[in-house]
Amino acid sequence: MSVTVIGGESTRARQAKEHKYGLTHLILRACLDYFRAAKGWAAVEQGVAVLQALSWTAAIIATQRLFDTITIAANHGLGFQRVVAPLGVLAVVVVLQQILSGAESYIFTYNSYGNSGKFMADFQRKLNRVPAALYEDAEFLDEVEQSRECLEYESLGVFTAICLNFLTSYAVFFAALGVFLFRLSPLLPLVIIAAFIPAALSLFAKARVFAELEEDNAPLRRRYEFYQDAIASREFFKETRLLGGFNYFYRLFIQTLGLITENRWQAERKTFWVRLALNVVSFLGLGAATLLLFQATMSGSISVGAFVAVFAGLTQMFSLMSEIVTERFSEASEYVGQIKQYYQLMDMPEVGGRHGKPDFIHGIRAQNVSFTYPGAETPAVINATLEIEDGETVAIVGENGAGKSTLVRLLSGLYQPDKGSVMIGGLDSADTHPETLYRETSGVFQKYQRYKMTLGENVAISNTLNPPDAHGITKALTDAHFNKGGTPLDTMLSPEFGGIDLSGGQWQRLAIARGLYRANQFIVLDEPTAAIDPLEEAHIYQQFEQLAQGKCAIIVTHRLGSVKLADRIVVMDSGEIKDIGTHAELLSRQGKYAQMWAAQAAWYENR
Ligand code: ATP
Repeated sequence: MSVTVIGGESTRARQAKEHKYGLTHLILRACLDYFRAAKGWAAVEQGVAVLQALSWTAAIIATQRLFDTITIAANHGLGFQRVVAPLGVLAVVVVLQQILSGAESYIFTYNSYGNSGKFMADFQRKLNRVPAALYEDAEFLDEVEQSRECLEYESLGVFTAICLNFLTSYAVFFAALGVFLFRLSPLLPLVIIAAFIPAALSLFAKARVFAELEEDNAPLRRRYEFYQDAIASREFFKETRLLGGFNYFYRLFIQTLGLITENRWQAERKTFWVRLALNVVSFLGLGAATLLLFQATMSGSISVGAFVAVFAGLTQMFSLMSEIVTERFSEASEYVGQIKQYYQLMDMPEVGGRHGKPDFIHGIRAQNVSFTYPGAETPAVINATLEIEDGETVAIVGENGAGKSTLVRLLSGLYQPDKGSVMIGGLDSADTHPETLYRETSGVFQKYQRYKMTLGENVAISNTLNPPDAHGITKALTDAHFNKGGTPLDTMLSPEFGGIDLSGGQWQRLAIARGLYRANQFIVLDEPTAAIDPLEEAHIYQQFEQLAQGKCAIIVTHRLGSVKLADRIVVMDSGEIKDIGTHAELLSRQGKYAQMWAAQAAWYENR
């Protein structure tokens, strides 16, 4: 797997998508991955498959010998003992075939289960290593959806099994039988190959049709899953029911399902005629081969025994070929689109860079930083320059959509700027490994997570490098004013898993405790108290003030009353930093901040 070290920029990561994956590349890649994952067992499986293929040919030759012996014995009035030996040989070959078939399917099942788990694990690891900003990109999310389907529905496993099966089982059988047939009549193998060339070519057309289908259906499937959630997931159902949204979502769900089915049907329809033509070609091929065989028998160039055995072999070969082309390859070609997306995703450049230790004596410095979300027309942050000194607390304020959260993601190294640079503790975020950047950083975020785990785990998740420390967890909960005191740390916080639920404000305090539990030199508080009542909020902000002492801290908030604790306030508007100063300085300048302050003051005074 090629891994390019990049800072995490979404546009650069997307360049991997331009790479074209031909069918041969996919087949080789899938087979090599299968061997790598299954290790020695893959070689054993393929070895057994080769033996099985040779046993099929051996059975045909043994049948011919038996029939030839029977013909000679009948013509010369010889006894049964003449046929015992060829009959015994045939019996041994048939028994061997059964043993090999059982062994092959056992090893195959063993390998497939093991491999699919390994591929899924690799996939999860990869998702953790791609740049975080990609999760804002619809195209990337489609790719994730298709890749997950590819692994969950075993498309990759089945595709690989079909390809390997063809190479080690069918191809060996056809080659061995081809030599045998060539010796009987040189035209025979040629007729058979010719009969299947158009069929094989048509598969490429089918692969293309189904790859297009995958691209069309991936975004639809994501919408379809979202509508399902909107109707019945625990997160959505209260609002959906209360606002009477069921019929609306149900209609969208049915429409999307209809579109997915329609696309599938169109793809099937496009390939139906191909399949029909294929069957006709195969049938004509079998007829031509039988005719050749018949002529060879009548002219005396092959024996009646050979005719019977070869005819049986030919029928087997044709049914195998038509199984391979019309069923197995046909199935495999449907998966090509998904597999291509999977490998494109697995080849995406990963975040990387130098490891080290940020030294916050150098503070945090953003220089002319701009960032545009994938698919957005206007930048969310434009040419922002900001320096946060060691031990300084900076508040960022501005209206909804001003770019505050985006600027924080850039300052913390989560997203890489499209232009400009961000230095965190003296390290350039563009060429420093994110693990290095995040090591000393903690945060409480606007959209915090409600982990379906115990109370203790919900806090300790922010510091998984060390074993959970019950004392530290309890202290963090106390500092965050988690007011469900006495709740044991092993209480499961999820009704879905037989536990209890918390109120919105309690969840938020828990998220604050999580942020506090993580050792840090740089703390980001992005709207950390939106769900907390005003009295408690004031206490929590006092707590933040203490915790931020001697560290770099950023607070994003709409509550201007609480920004006074900051050393400086940054005012953002339409993606730009419009002003920076203390509360008093900004008020005296009579700019955006003074307007916002006056509006909030009037709101409270007029109540
Ligand atoms: P709020 O106070 O409402 O939380 P904010 O100041 O934090 O807002 P941001 O969340 O940084 O604002 O968003 C800045 C701009 O970027 C907004 O115009 C928003 O619509 C846009 N934006 C945010 N996320 C995305 C995204 N994934 N794709 C496209 N545009 C986005």
